[in-house]
Amino acid sequence: MGAARLAVLLWLGTAVLGCSVPPPKAQTASPVLEPETPPAAPPALDLEGLESTSLRNPNDGSLLGGVPLPLEAPGLRFNPGRDPAARYGTVEVVRALLEASARVERELGGLPITINDLSLERGGPIPHHRSHQSGRDVDALFYQLGPDGQPIESVGAFFDPNGRGVDFRDLADPTDDVALTLDVPRNWLFLQALIEGQTAQLQNIYVAEHLRTLLLEHARAEDAPASTIQRFEALTCQPSYPHDDHFHFRFFCTPDDIARDCRDSQPVYPWQRQRLADAGVRPLPLEEKREQASSKIVTHAEARQSAGAMDTEVERWLDRRQEWIKKPHPGRPYCP
Ligand SMILES: [Zn+2]
Repeated sequence: MGAARLAVLLWLGTAVLGCSVPPPKAQTASPVLEPETPPAAPPALDLEGLESTSLRNPNDGSLLGGVPLPLEAPGLRFNPGRDPAARYGTVEVVRALLEASARVERELGGLPITINDLSLERGGPIPHHRSHQSGRDVDALFYQLGPDGQPIESVGAFFDPNGRGVDFRDLADPTDDVALTLDVPRNWLFLQALIEGQTAQLQNIYVAEHLRTLLLEHARAEDAPASTIQRFEALTCQPSYPHDDHFHFRFFCTPDDIARDCRDSQPVYPWQRQRLADAGVRPLPLEEKREQASSKIVTHAEARQSAGAMDTEVERWLDRRQEWIKKPHPGRPYCP
């Protein structure tokens, strides 16, 4: 015992997304990779000619013809601490992730983005999540910088309103903590690439409000295209689980999939309505949710208790985190 990582604390189910970062299967170190010796990038997955269908709702759906996200691709890796069975998405979603990560690598270099769960090969209920059932939900850890300001392998640490975080590693050992900074430029570029990409249409980016603010400030400061910023503003919201440790991306049904019973919840933005109108389809009403076994909800207190011994710095962080978990943001909604 005593090897509990902070991720244990983050294993908090939520009513809406149920998306959290569960405990890793094994203790893994997070070494600073040597930037001068990057591994050779494997070829991107060839998705030509493949077809998939996302069926019904993200919280009660399934997936036909799901394709696996590659374990490694240019600028991207599937988190080696996660179950590789949980890396299936629609062809469009997987392609969009590959395109966005490749753009970040091409324009800014650094280390690959770490992608957590998508869906199971055939979708349906999946451990640790309530959604992620229809190949259109993706969790991604943030790009992060280490104490030397250089890219560091991402961990499920949470970040405060200044974009600072700590990889506590062994929660009971105060001597092994690693200071982290949110890598705002790379995170923004990844989001920009997803928003501007034509492959899959983002419906929501679930992220903590204070991190949204940092990203927005950066986007404005670097004169990102106004239309991209406007879409980012519309797409982002903080759900009940604050998402200060990862992004959750939700993609819309494609027009083809709507014709095969893929269903989107609200909001459907004007530009998405136009896209569907151009394709000659209309969004279907959300299906009534069927009764089903739901993921166990772990309260913050329970998670804290199950994490075992913690040093005082970890306790202090968890107390601080309460500041933004339920912080009101006037004029800004929480996710529906
Ligand atoms: Zn998620």
